[in-house]
Amino acid sequence: MIGLFTDKKDCSGCGACAAVCPSSALRMEPDEEGFRYPRIDEARCTRCGRCAAICPLTGEREKGLARDTEAYAFQHARPEVLRRSASGGAFTALAEAFFAGQRKARVYGAAFRKGKVFHRSVDDPGELSLLSDSKYLESDLRGCFREIREQLARGESVLFSGTPCQVDGLKASLSDLPKEMTDHQLLLVEILCNGVGSPLVWRKNWEYLKAQEKSPVEDYSFRDKREPMGYGVSWRMEDGSEGREFLLNNFYWRLYISGLILRPACSACHYAGYRRSADITVGDFHGFEETEEPRLFSAAEGISLVLGNSEKGRKFCHDLEKSGTYRRLPPEKAMQPRLVSPAPAHPFRQLAMKDAAALPYEVFRKKYYLLAGKGNP
Ligand SMILES: Cc1cc2nc3c(=O)[nH]c(=O)nc-3n(C[C@H](O)[C@H](O)[C@H](O)COP(=O)(O)OP(=O)(O)OC[C@H]3O[C@@H](n4cnc5c(N)ncnc54)[C@H](O)[C@@H]3O)c2cc1C
Repeated sequence: MIGLFTDKKDCSGCGACAAVCPSSALRMEPDEEGFRYPRIDEARCTRCGRCAAICPLTGEREKGLARDTEAYAFQHARPEVLRRSASGGAFTALAEAFFAGQRKARVYGAAFRKGKVFHRSVDDPGELSLLSDSKYLESDLRGCFREIREQLARGESVLFSGTPCQVDGLKASLSDLPKEMTDHQLLLVEILCNGVGSPLVWRKNWEYLKAQEKSPVEDYSFRDKREPMGYGVSWRMEDGSEGREFLLNNFYWRLYISGLILRPACSACHYAGYRRSADITVGDFHGFEETEEPRLFSAAEGISLVLGNSEKGRKFCHDLEKSGTYRRLPPEKAMQPRLVSPAPAHPFRQLAMKDAAALPYEVFRKKYYLLAGKGNP
């Protein structure tokens, strides 16, 4: 048997191993916490070792940002984009710039539908809203790495967005393609990432919400901008009625931000503090201070932090100027926690995850509501 990892901290669930397996002997399957891990079908496995060799979490990485990284603050000019984006709408602006002038282009990102988070692609700028908003749990990649390989081979251009480990997983799985192909046709955009929450806990939270509301829930926003800085959570039922809660009072958010339900690999993140793999990094620009007059940004509506990590990435970043308010800054002004070190796991993480699986959600909620502190969003 091929040993892919012995400690769950050493698997981010990126799925690169499954994507490169020539005999399709690997499948990404959820464990008891809902996080996906590779499972080997021994009968199919030819022991070629490609899966272990491709794993992006092995090997050394350089520390810190590259010397030529550029940093920007950005806020999208269109109010409807700002409203639906978790931060300043940089993702939509970059995706719009990517679509512009390309004949056949696709943009991949995490979508939310009927309580599930999964990666999908859109081929029209009008559909980008399907990928907006931060969903604070692991997104199911649904085998899209193989799909992307085929699209690149057909000459299409692809923008892939996701967590740093997903982006690096895709990059590793495509490392055998000609460099000109990936240089010209592929743009990688990562979100700054605090870690992904447990799909199991999220599912229980979703079922609980449905039971509380006595109605099927149609949609959910993890960062509702009707609260300043998007510190709101809201949901809409099938009959059109709505529920809303202040982010810091929301139980799922509290569990997530206090490190009680993070994937084990997130608390040992191989990307926090290291050289970025993506062409572009986008995050929340908390604490952005505008010193120059006139003040151009509205902090309450969310400001994006953007890093141009590669030459190709920086070209798209410079295009941001056309879609909103934009300011270049020294990278040291854009440093924030997840660029320095991983989010720590809560000391009661193991116990909380066991309780989440075993207890009725109401009981679990009562037990952990106060322990799950308000955190630092
Ligand atoms: C799990 C998670 C943790 C985060 N942690 C931090 C943090 O510590 N510090 C920080 O500054 N910013 C963090 N962010 C990023 C931030 O909240 C915004 O997502 C980011 O700034 C993009 O916002 P936007 O306004 O440009 O666009 P939006 O339209 O809001 O962003 C959409 C983008 O987010 C991606 N995305 C959303 N949910 C997921 C998911 N579950 N998995 C993979 N990709 C997803 C989409 O693919 C798309 O690229 C986190 C986001 C997520 C989802």
